[in-house]
Amino acid sequence: MREWAWAKLDEKAVEKFSEDYKKFLAKAKTERETVKYLIENAKKKGFKPLEKFDRLSPGDKVYAIFRNKFVLMAIIGEEPLTKGFRVVGSHMDTPRIDLKPVPLYEDSGIVMFKTHYYGGVKKYQWVALPLALHGVVVLKDGSTKEIVVGEKEDEPVFVIPDIAPHLGRKKQEQRKGIDVIQGEELHAIAGNKPMDPTKPQEKDNVKKRILNILEEKYGIEEEDLVSADLTLVPAMKPRDVGLDGSMIMAYGQDDRACVYTSFRALIELKKPKSTAIGMFVDKEEVGSAGDTSINSRFFEYFIAELIKKTGMEADTSSLVRTFINSKAISADVNVVMNPLHKDLFDAPNTGLLGRGVILTKYTGRGGKFMTSEAHAEYVAWIRGVLDRRNIPWQPGLLGKVDVGGGGTIAMFIAERGILTVDLGPGVLALHAPCEITSKADIYSTYLAYKAFYEEE
Ligand code: MN
Ligand code: MN
Repeated sequence: MREWAWAKLDEKAVEKFSEDYKKFLAKAKTERETVKYLIENAKKKGFKPLEKFDRLSPGDKVYAIFRNKFVLMAIIGEEPLTKGFRVVGSHMDTPRIDLKPVPLYEDSGIVMFKTHYYGGVKKYQWVALPLALHGVVVLKDGSTKEIVVGEKEDEPVFVIPDIAPHLGRKKQEQRKGIDVIQGEELHAIAGNKPMDPTKPQEKDNVKKRILNILEEKYGIEEEDLVSADLTLVPAMKPRDVGLDGSMIMAYGQDDRACVYTSFRALIELKKPKSTAIGMFVDKEEVGSAGDTSINSRFFEYFIAELIKKTGMEADTSSLVRTFINSKAISADVNVVMNPLHKDLFDAPNTGLLGRGVILTKYTGRGGKFMTSEAHAEYVAWIRGVLDRRNIPWQPGLLGKVDVGGGGTIAMFIAERGILTVDLGPGVLALHAPCEITSKADIYSTYLAYKAFYEEE
């Protein structure tokens, strides 16, 4: 463990995989966009909607989408489902800046979007940064208007203005570092050109033009923004990092690194022994609450349907039996040692960038609260799988005891009785608008998920 991942990997394969991964990251910046990408590409690999099957046989490939934000995919295995499935679960939502239901206002001749940040963001990182607007507006008649502005080179972007250093000193110095920018100071600039420039005193002169643009371009009125999922994300493309180009810097690698690697591992499987499931959930960054989160009963529904359609009775007993016979990877990123802040980490228990996928026995915080600790037996099995395949891996925890912490979907998977462990790549600058990973770690993660599906 903890050798250089590069020593064990085919560099050309790593580079090829990284290019595909970056294309995915550039395309899928919201959970809806991620769902779209997954389904489009799964279809190309022969996956069909669950409802298209009356009966399922080994080798059949199915998927189900729940409310555009939760996806389950399966390749039916040789063994009966009640003997257990293998699931890799990752989350598609990422920290970002959401628009409020009534977002638009004009002040000092500038039209602004009111926002509420989503997930654990360090607010000061989101100012003075090009942002793109992504999402949907749903009209009363049920029609959906998709909006993406700011991703193409010739499109305008949005930006949250910071204070000039000349003025900000006193105001910002008095605040705690983390609060240098506060929640209601995260409004983004949306326009500055009046509808009628001859009227300097006219109220909402600029806002009128913005509303006009929304009407003409998208056919939406101000009130329609009440029924919208609109969000601001960094308008930056994934880039290689370092003179050696060995790393990737991109938005949303937590947790789309695991979404992509587990998806690739699943769709490339041949007929597995145990039914192989890919699970892609929403709302992890806000505590896994809601109908499209890991806590959704849609998971139970999907498994019950698989049991039924493979010719068994899906009563409570067989559903629970299936869960307790199953194995899971909670596919989420961990942190790696940051050379600038080593005091926050317990070195022997911290992942290093470029040393392979990180096996995390438990997450949570002080006193192991809010976590599911993987059993020694299960950790032993998973490290055996990785070593048999010569896959680069390392143990890692999320920082020193009592320094901080965090959770994943592991505890919610485990509540179903499924054996669960956290396994994923390490990230530098986790939750920053641009997160950094090692190409070798990403590739190791893909190999690890593949081995998990395939190995006995
Ligand atoms: Mn995560
Ligand atoms: Mn996260």
